[in-house]
Amino acid sequence: MKNFNPADNIQDLQYFGEFGGVNPSISDSSTYTFLSAKTMFDTFEGNMEGCYLYSRHSSPSNLYLDKALAAMEGTETANVSASGMGAITPTLLQLCGSGDHIVSSRTIYGGTYAFLKNFTPRLGIKTTFVDITKLAVVEAAITTETKVLYCETVSNPLLEVADIEGLSKIAKKHNLMLVIDNTFSPLSVSPAKLGADIVIHSLTKYINGSSDTVGGVTCASQEFIDSLKNVNSGASMLLGPTMDSLRSASVMKNLRTLHIRMKQHSHNAMYLAERFEKDGLKTVYPGLKSHPSHEIYKTMINPEYGFGGMMTLDVGTLEKANALMELMQAKNLGYLAVSLGFYKTLFSAPGTSTSSEIPMEEQIEMGLTDGLIRFSIGLDNDIERTYQSMKACMMELNVLK
Ligand code: PLP
Repeated sequence: MKNFNPADNIQDLQYFGEFGGVNPSISDSSTYTFLSAKTMFDTFEGNMEGCYLYSRHSSPSNLYLDKALAAMEGTETANVSASGMGAITPTLLQLCGSGDHIVSSRTIYGGTYAFLKNFTPRLGIKTTFVDITKLAVVEAAITTETKVLYCETVSNPLLEVADIEGLSKIAKKHNLMLVIDNTFSPLSVSPAKLGADIVIHSLTKYINGSSDTVGGVTCASQEFIDSLKNVNSGASMLLGPTMDSLRSASVMKNLRTLHIRMKQHSHNAMYLAERFEKDGLKTVYPGLKSHPSHEIYKTMINPEYGFGGMMTLDVGTLEKANALMELMQAKNLGYLAVSLGFYKTLFSAPGTSTSSEIPMEEQIEMGLTDGLIRFSIGLDNDIERTYQSMKACMMELNVLK
């Protein structure tokens, strides 16, 4: 673990394009030729290394990005997909069928929550939602039908932190697959090194970092990825959430600057979180000592990438939250928009946006309050200048005195 550095692993990959280009060539084809019919048959059967059949299965460009993301997470291999949900849903459907059970964190991305709560029951898959920070509660929810333990390293939107090593011990004891969505904490946390079996990302967020596409990835063992891509029974192959080759080439280019961006996102978020907490605002950021999981998170992170760029502020009421977000956008401090990992700060009120799939009474139970604003802090060069401008907005609206 000590010698594992995800950014070095990305740096150490070497590619040559078809004509000696410094970027790998993009494979702009949906289908591939064979010189012999026998090779085509063997490729269909999954017996031919290095041969391509059809781009829904794999393409050279997607395999380059798979390899880079597997290197980043320290897994044997990976499979990119057209969106984060395009990674999450086939992964869970590959692991579970009718009669199976999932234990999931109750604070997860609203789309994943809706998939587990509303969609998978149609297929006979049940989910119990738990407070993932309480290991005894997690273990108590496991039944003989349970196949998967599911959570996010840092949860959306409440920024709860999962004790991955603790969860991995429980998963191993009960023979479960531990699936971790690491979207909020790429580079900072390496879940597979802490015992996760499968690591998922929405590439849409930090990894691509330019809010110009959606994308996803499942990082896992060769055996699991082969099962996802199996032509007869693989959920990724059969449901078809394939990433386009042109897009995977562009995500790959952005991946190369991820380490620089994460350091700046973390630096800026830490700066603002410390300031706003001192000003008396209810601030949640895993880098703050006041965060309930600060100590455990400190032991989990690759420290040079920091505590990440996500922060929440509770300004009391939805009206105040909406007014503040509109004013901050008008003052060009960021955008009132969902998603995260952009160079500009993005802010939204999760209760009415990304977590609106979660029923109101459950939002209250998990502490998702009306006045909560989720910030994805940008790459601002002068963060003190940003702090002063944000504070001025808060004073104008009496959020701060
Ligand atoms: N996981 C997390 C933590 C997310 O925040 C999101 C999207 O907001 C997703 C998964 C879904 O990813 P996508 O929108 O790329 O399908």
